[in-house]
Amino acid sequence: MMDLVQEFLSGSPVNLERIPGTDGLGDCILLRAGPNRDEPCTLVLSHLDTVHPVGTLAKLPIRQEGDRLYGPGVYDMKGGAYLALHAFRDVTRAASASRPVTFLVTSDEEIGSPMTRPIIEDLARSSAYTLVTEPARDGGKIVTSRKGVGRFDVHVEGRPAHAGSRHQDGRSAIREAARLILAVEGMTDYGRGVTTTVGLVNGGTAVNTIPQHCQFTIDLRVTNAADGEACSAAILALQSGNSDVAVHVTGGMNRPPYERSPGVIELFEKAQAIAAEIGFDLLDIPQSGGGSDGNFTAALGVPTLDGLGIDGDGAHTLHEYGLLSSIAPRRELMRRLLESL
Ligand SMILES: [Zn+2]
Repeated sequence: MMDLVQEFLSGSPVNLERIPGTDGLGDCILLRAGPNRDEPCTLVLSHLDTVHPVGTLAKLPIRQEGDRLYGPGVYDMKGGAYLALHAFRDVTRAASASRPVTFLVTSDEEIGSPMTRPIIEDLARSSAYTLVTEPARDGGKIVTSRKGVGRFDVHVEGRPAHAGSRHQDGRSAIREAARLILAVEGMTDYGRGVTTTVGLVNGGTAVNTIPQHCQFTIDLRVTNAADGEACSAAILALQSGNSDVAVHVTGGMNRPPYERSPGVIELFEKAQAIAAEIGFDLLDIPQSGGGSDGNFTAALGVPTLDGLGIDGDGAHTLHEYGLLSSIAPRRELMRRLLESL
């Protein structure tokens, strides 16, 4: 995918830096173009990784049905990267960018951006705006706020024993984990927009053995930074109810909340005015529960618009598709944003 980006931009007046992947991750590409002024840039973020494992094409082959283009990662977010790279190339060739443009194409977004987060935050600090090409939804609506995401691992260690002859000597790690899981799930508060999910549980060694180990994961979503701190503290403080059973919790907030600040609203209104000139209504969805790299830039106070990619549905599923008719107007929106912000 990164080779394709490189090939696509060859011959354009773009400074291209290929950043080698670390820890088994793919490479990234950092592109810079536009007027060479000492002023904050517009930062564009697209990711080319996908949640679909290798081999998904057999179950979800690339196919077109009417306006729908099916395929793994078509909607999240090859489509958005595609239209943004076209818009970027257009403005570099026409030398029409209103300010410097920095475009980071990443390969680790779906696993929480462990490699690119510091790069993104560094670039954000010298940016005036950030535009993220995650998928649009519900008729082309974009994203102006996202929940913050926390990830935690809990390891419970008890004492193993034969389930028949030595039952009283055992201290079940699964039993203690079950108690903790109910406590964690009980932190969900829809009114405040706080959710906790124990999505993976792993424990025990045999059907007739009191389990020594149990591990589970916690996914936390919050609407604001204060809730993120409070809920993280509560999760990290989880304690064993049994002195013979040890509980060890690691983790924290992975993506801070992306709040709909006055700067975000002002940027959204500019984009709406451009969309109206192009001929469509640009609307935003209520706060999205899913995190993205936009969370990092918004949390640093950089006005950020997300969901500028293509419309479609079925992200992360075997019925993922993008709407072909949404490409052209959104490419035009991206181009005009780069020319006017
Ligand atoms: Zn995505």
